Amino acid sequence: MSAAETVMQRCDVLGACTEEPSSITRPFASDAMRSAHVYVSEWMRAAGMTVARDNIGNLRARYDGTGETTLLLGSHLDSVRDAGRYDGPLGVMVAIAAVQRLHDEGKRLGFGIEVLAFADEEGLRFGTTYLGSRAFAGRLDPNDLERADSTGVSMAEAIRAFGGDPARIGQDRRPAENLLGYVEVHIEQGPVLEAQGLPVGIVSAIAGQARIEIVFAGEAGHAGTVPMDRRRDALTAASEVVLAAEAAATTEEALVATVGKLEVEPGVANVIPGRVTFTIDVRHGDDAIRSRVSEALLSRARDIARRRKLAIEVRPISENAAVRCAPRLIGLLTQAVRDCGQRPLQLTCGAGHDAVVMSSMTDVGMLFIRCKGGVSHNPAESVTTQDVSTAIDVLGRFLELLPTK
Ligand SMILES: [Zn+2]
Repeated sequence: MSAAETVMQRCDVLGACTEEPSSITRPFASDAMRSAHVYVSEWMRAAGMTVARDNIGNLRARYDGTGETTLLLGSHLDSVRDAGRYDGPLGVMVAIAAVQRLHDEGKRLGFGIEVLAFADEEGLRFGTTYLGSRAFAGRLDPNDLERADSTGVSMAEAIRAFGGDPARIGQDRRPAENLLGYVEVHIEQGPVLEAQGLPVGIVSAIAGQARIEIVFAGEAGHAGTVPMDRRRDALTAASEVVLAAEAAATTEEALVATVGKLEVEPGVANVIPGRVTFTIDVRHGDDAIRSRVSEALLSRARDIARRRKLAIEVRPISENAAVRCAPRLIGLLTQAVRDCGQRPLQLTCGAGHDAVVMSSMTDVGMLFIRCKGGVSHNPAESVTTQDVSTAIDVLGRFLELLPTK
């Protein structure tokens, strides 16, 4: 069996590690994750690595090199509900395959390689994100340990039941000294590579993201008796903002703006909407551009409220800065893609990844693999063995090109 066929088969095996028999649902610190760990540790050891599990539940495998420095490779093993097979696990499997190749050839590089299989990136069980990489980077908020899952089990209890000690998570922080960087292989989760006819792509930046909530308060009234010129309809105002967000996104390349949540009150067919609460999510690889567009949208919303005589309330929900991938790693990945006979293409990534957290401790780089229709977080996630084979070759070539310091 080829390395890529092995990776595909392993993703199938992990797909069977699930809480729900008919679909893939593999939350943090679950029995499904426990069985995934049995397989993944075995594959890591077979590739010549020593394997340890830290207190949050990350698997950390090491393949020693001849020098002092270490390159980190990895992705996450947890999933969303009713997930596909590849978001997360594929990156871990490709990393193991690259190390397996070195091991089979009896090769040691000038640097060690650590393959990280993160415990939780999606946050399905506790509504958090990046638990695994945050613990690794020493950035876990201790208050998170008090969070409860839907059955009332706290994160601390879940960690204990999984065999970890929540009190010792702080000691698991990986020192940032002598790291060459963190490289993550992941499915694209978008349609660009497919449209360009390319098996892999190099991420230039992970988009920054701002999410705000806006409340328009007007006046509810009878849909039959209040004349149109007397209305203070909160929904017609919100509709203008929804369309303004869409229009704003067309003014900047690669900017995306989404109104994904909109609540109408009282929400009755014969009552003029008195109050509307909605969110706007704006993302771009350049924080300055994102801020400018967000500000413009907000001032537009204020103008609309003024003109329609509505009260407006603006609540910032979250803001994450964009993460630039390291030019040095982008350059080496570009060379590796070229050396494997493919056209290198850089793209911005709109979704969050463990690399966001890892950028707090070291340089990060990401390699995307084409996925069918750009579909992810869905059982229909699909990649080809051929593309996986290319990704393994590119990662292998990247390891050969990476300087030891
Ligand atoms: Zn992922």
